[in-house]
Amino acid sequence: MVILLLQYGADPTLIDGEGFSSIHLAVLFQHMPIIAYLISKGQSVNMTDLNGQTPLMLSAHKVLGPEPTGFLLKFNPSLSVVDKIHQNTPLHWAVAAGNVNAVDKLLEAGSSLDIRNVKGETPLDMALQNKNRLIIHMLKTEAKMRANKKFRLWRWLQKCELFLLLMLSVITMWAVGYILDFNSDSWLLKGCLLITLFFLTSLLPRFLVGYKSLIYLPTVFLLSSIFWIFVTWFILFFPHLAGTPFYFAFILSLIAFLYFFYKTWATDPGFTKASEEERKTNIITLAETGCLDFRTFCTSCLIRKPLRSLHCHVCNSCVARYDQHCLWTGRCIGFGNHHYYIFFLFFLSIVCDWIIYESFIYWSNHCATTFREDGLWTYLNQIVACSPWVLYIFMLATFHFSWSTFLLLNQLFQIAFLGLTSHEKTSLLKQSRHMKQTLSLRRTPYNLGFTQNLADFFQCGCFGLVKPCAVDWTSQYSMVFHPAKEKVLRSV
Ligand SMILES: [Zn+2]
Ligand SMILES: [Zn+2]
Repeated sequence: MVILLLQYGADPTLIDGEGFSSIHLAVLFQHMPIIAYLISKGQSVNMTDLNGQTPLMLSAHKVLGPEPTGFLLKFNPSLSVVDKIHQNTPLHWAVAAGNVNAVDKLLEAGSSLDIRNVKGETPLDMALQNKNRLIIHMLKTEAKMRANKKFRLWRWLQKCELFLLLMLSVITMWAVGYILDFNSDSWLLKGCLLITLFFLTSLLPRFLVGYKSLIYLPTVFLLSSIFWIFVTWFILFFPHLAGTPFYFAFILSLIAFLYFFYKTWATDPGFTKASEEERKTNIITLAETGCLDFRTFCTSCLIRKPLRSLHCHVCNSCVARYDQHCLWTGRCIGFGNHHYYIFFLFFLSIVCDWIIYESFIYWSNHCATTFREDGLWTYLNQIVACSPWVLYIFMLATFHFSWSTFLLLNQLFQIAFLGLTSHEKTSLLKQSRHMKQTLSLRRTPYNLGFTQNLADFFQCGCFGLVKPCAVDWTSQYSMVFHPAKEKVLRSV
């Protein structure tokens, strides 16, 4: 109806009896597609109502929750503009309403904390008056963060925070191994030292790095494990292997692992990009063809979602043929880097496999007992006493070997037999729980048979028997995607 009215010359800037324009009403009733359409058609995001309030002020004041404040912020509205009567900024209004989500979004967008309203109050003064403890805490923390940013040391720390986290993890892992290897029979002493270390390391990252970087903890744990695995291999295992081809195979696997880790980390997984003009044109086209709904439109990126894509909230972008946000690499796995991820898992399991094998060789050379002669219990005791450090590295390798092999087998099964991503498989399984009939994971339009699935995924043919089909999932919107089979897609 809005489209029809605008086509017939309706003026969206007219003010109603209560002082609101059409965009203000769309904000009050949280009609996001209408807000997007009106702005794309040229209505200003900073349009004021009778009291001088912009849509952002109205949203922060009247609509509790993150939306539509977060949605409006995508259109770059003015954050420092004030209304006519109270001279409040959008942040003042959010604080006045106790709208915690809106305060969070506005602070993230960089709203000023120093602007004073007609009574001379900053947002913090208002929060203190309202006695809203959470908002007071948020405003004070943000002010502290912004003050810290002025110091050169703080800025340097922020730049290097990933490196610092990695160094901290390397040192912590060495300290754990050192305590275990410590020349003392008292396991009580070792236990106390480990607990102290645990408390120290749980405190340090809070001072050194921001909360956002803490999501990289699994990544730095993996990399520091690989570092100590290599050091142990070089010092303890390598002397036994010199002259055999084993050492060369291990080095090659390690280099391949590091290469594919880097490729998975650095390659664009398929983030969808669009300029502001492209976004507006997209919104108008989608709205006028009746397709502006949340199944085809991403309200965070303001773009038309390609088929099989999903919005990742950690990366804050839509990712083409989304598989998962991988904790171990700290990156999204999508159309661009999925094949690198498979090789990353493969070489990680190979590296850990070597270490497990070489640990057994080390024990057979250095331990007096054997499993067959003295039984399991004596053998285990001897292993612990022989070299706790080797046991520690062995346990790390076993842990990384277990999850990487499990994920690798699961991924290969999904790719070859189902033609699905992890996300698609999970959503189909969730859907099937609510259905009376059992849903076959193999009967999806993406499953083109074992060989074709593999050829399409790795983009390689097999002596002319199977030809890979190149589908660009970053811009695939139509239902037909495989010319050889003319399969019709339905969204999963
Ligand atoms: Zn998105
Ligand atoms: Zn992500």
